[in-house]
Amino acid sequence: MGWIAAPEPGGVLRPGWAVIEPNPEIARKGPCAMEKGICIADLFRRENEYLGKPVLVQGWVRTRRDSKAGVTFIELNDGSCFRNLQVVAETALGEHKPTMGSVTTGSSLRVEGTVLASPGREQSIELRAHRIQVYGGADPAKYPLQKKRHSFEFLRQIAHLRPRTNTIGAVTRVRNKLSQAIHRFFQDRGFYWIHTPVITSSDCEGAGEVFRVTTLDLQKAAAALREGGNPFEEDFFGKPVYLTVSGQLQAEIYALSLGKVYTFGPTFRAENSNTSRHLAEFWMVEPEMAFYDLEDDLELAEAFLKSLAQAVLADCEEDLRFFARFVEPGVMESLDKLTREPFQVMTYGEAVEVLRKSGEPFAFPVSWGSDLQAEHERYLAEKYVGGPLAVVHFPRDLKPFYMRRNDDGKTVAAMDILVPRVGEIIGGSQREERPDVLLDQMKQKGISVEDYRWYLDLREYGSAPHAGFGLGLERMVQFVTGVANIREAIPFPRSPGSADF
Ligand code: ATP
Ligand code: MN
Repeated sequence: MGWIAAPEPGGVLRPGWAVIEPNPEIARKGPCAMEKGICIADLFRRENEYLGKPVLVQGWVRTRRDSKAGVTFIELNDGSCFRNLQVVAETALGEHKPTMGSVTTGSSLRVEGTVLASPGREQSIELRAHRIQVYGGADPAKYPLQKKRHSFEFLRQIAHLRPRTNTIGAVTRVRNKLSQAIHRFFQDRGFYWIHTPVITSSDCEGAGEVFRVTTLDLQKAAAALREGGNPFEEDFFGKPVYLTVSGQLQAEIYALSLGKVYTFGPTFRAENSNTSRHLAEFWMVEPEMAFYDLEDDLELAEAFLKSLAQAVLADCEEDLRFFARFVEPGVMESLDKLTREPFQVMTYGEAVEVLRKSGEPFAFPVSWGSDLQAEHERYLAEKYVGGPLAVVHFPRDLKPFYMRRNDDGKTVAAMDILVPRVGEIIGGSQREERPDVLLDQMKQKGISVEDYRWYLDLREYGSAPHAGFGLGLERMVQFVTGVANIREAIPFPRSPGSADF
């Protein structure tokens, strides 16, 4: 009787192992047959093909239960899907009696067995074990993840173990699916992925929320500063540099040569705000398109969000059902709504009126010219619209220098897309392509013309209307999964005072 496994590289079968060919259509949706043995997701997806056949699986024990009849039930999870595989073994499994003693929650196993229809109501198939090998045990007296609910705060302290929990495992699979869908959306539409730099000398918005990158000895640098010198001349790059807060400006360069581009990578903001939707390090995807105006930009952003939602609805159903049941009851509905209904659009001026007339006891009062706070964004998306909402044409003073000035002279062609529970998920704009207006904006905002000479050059030579936006991947993960805090949306969160692991 052969074991089912994938072929060795080069297509040679491991002696004695049979194989069910990996199906590319299935592989596209998630993990599939592996080099060694099969993954549990594939087993569940192709139950009928595997029924009655011998297989090899490997994973971590979620729980173990012994019956009086001398049978051990092991819930095995290998991360490939939400569901555990029930492994049924004789407690005394022949020669392996000592082995069974170390099959505890958290231990890792290799199990060879036969796939059988399960008499249990919880699952349709189970694995009858013939041979079990424990790769690594986990002392039940010490293993931190016992079978009970742990708080997210606690789990953050054990970020090296938390992906073994239902929630973080599911978040991880959804995050992966979103990343894949992001690339697919843009690649299908002829966008080029541009790798914009992580180290940059421009602090983009002049917001000052930047991390400085230096190789200077800080004590010596401080001394030099006190003596009126410029220590940065001695620094690695000969001038102050920072971690990028956005790849937009560099993406604009490529949009004005290749047409449609996007950046997707780590982004850093030293905002000292300990909120549930800000990270110091996050992933942002920023498309930038030549010949697009604000309306085109918004249309693309809507199609983009809809396609991301469809991708997770299609391929992460099991994980989503878990979120709906245990994390946030509204997730399925809000995703479904996002894919089905056209986005509402209102101007900033209209939004301010809505907020003023709402009668809500906001902590921050609103009037024309004031920035929309998280509470305002959430009211608009959650209560007023009950779904995604684009707010367009913000006052010039609230937005960065590169946004295109509207004819009223007071507002710019900006858009923020707001969604329930999260608030702002996308920020974008049409960019100022007129050199004289751009120069004026820069002067008014105190942006150094010298530092941004190249940016002005793009308006001098073959300038073109163009637009783009930025989506924070973690905010999208928050929206899709319903996790209340953005620190659950990224494997290793960085926030003020916390950069462990
Ligand atoms: P906010 O007003 O919520 O702080 P922002 O206006 O500073 O956001 P943008 O500069 O427009 O954000 O960035 C585009 C997108 O990047 C935002 O819509 C959001 O999805 C995401 N984003 C911005 N800052 C952060 C952060 N600190 N952590 C996680 N995501 C962020
Ligand atoms: Mn914004």
